[in-house]
Amino acid sequence: MLDDKKISKTSLDELGEFGLIEQIALRFPPKLTSTLQGIGDDAAVIDYKDEKTLVTSEIFIEGIHFRWDYMPLRHLGYKITMATASDLIAMNAKPQQLLVNIALSNRFTIEAVDEIYNGIKYACDQLKMDVVGGDTTSSTRGLCVSLTAIGSAKEEKILYRKGAKPKDLLVVTGDLGGAFLGLQVLEREAQVNKVNPNNQPDFSNYTYLIERQLKPQARIDILELLKELDVQPTSMIDISDGLSSEVLHLAKENGLGMNIYEEKIPLDPSTIRTAEEFNINPITCALSGGEDFELLFTIKQKDFDKIKGNPNFSIIGYVGEEKEGSFLITKGNEQKVPLVAQGWREQEA
Ligand code: ADP
Ligand code: MG
Repeated sequence: MLDDKKISKTSLDELGEFGLIEQIALRFPPKLTSTLQGIGDDAAVIDYKDEKTLVTSEIFIEGIHFRWDYMPLRHLGYKITMATASDLIAMNAKPQQLLVNIALSNRFTIEAVDEIYNGIKYACDQLKMDVVGGDTTSSTRGLCVSLTAIGSAKEEKILYRKGAKPKDLLVVTGDLGGAFLGLQVLEREAQVNKVNPNNQPDFSNYTYLIERQLKPQARIDILELLKELDVQPTSMIDISDGLSSEVLHLAKENGLGMNIYEEKIPLDPSTIRTAEEFNINPITCALSGGEDFELLFTIKQKDFDKIKGNPNFSIIGYVGEEKEGSFLITKGNEQKVPLVAQGWREQEA
């Protein structure tokens, strides 16, 4: 990707670290009233008045969390911003400020860094966030980016993983498994490209899945929707590692069992079709795939009618009475299979 002919090459040395930071600063004039000082001083200054401050960090390492061959730099910047903001959204907080720490090897060009920041800016514009600072350094090999997102929420509105009660209903937004299958499609093409560099990939059957992988949307829209519907979740988490592991997180934090129905897990038709093509069970993609960045939450039964039939939500199960374990209830024969957390990501390196 870095050798892409469209990207010209200005070495980072020509501009220097300060020149680079100056360029970055020009693109991010603070817009939010909560940002009192953005890039340019020794620290940013933020004021959330009567709201609590929420902070979260993520780290992304080349070769472990992303690869160049199918992750254009602009998409990388966009995706990591969405992934980081998603953790604040899962607390029912408004993401507002972003810090960008970046370590670059000398094979990077100004234009390449620009592309990363184009993606970061695009995501920040969508989420209404200000980039207010960061740090820049060199690395001996590969790219490493770490993002810190800061946001705010009224104390009584913050949603924790803990808070679910027995008989609550488990709800997920959107559909699951798509991002994982998008990655499978991209990896398959990358393999073909190695053998035949003139290969012209035809992704037309996989547009939705590739978009789920390269351009995920953190579900900030859901927070507004829940408010409109007057639904108050009792606990919440974002789905970054696959449904199984997130359901198990909720179970553990609450000291309760969780039961989900296989037939209720939302799958897009292209997820089902493509999983068949790859000889994988689409449910496995949803349970273990990850990177969908949808929300998983629990609600009281009295809120059921408020979200029933709403296409944004699927009620996938219920919270068990006691510490009786967490299960997937299978289609048809209603067998209870213990849920296991098995991230696909761990297999990468
Ligand atoms: P210091 O020497 O105090 O660490 P820097 O020169 O690293 O200062 O940073 C100067 C300003 O630029 C600070 O406001 C810092 O937060 C910001 N900054 C540095 N690197 C980045 C980056 N990669 N992205 C965004 N802002 C950055
Ligand atoms: Mg610094």
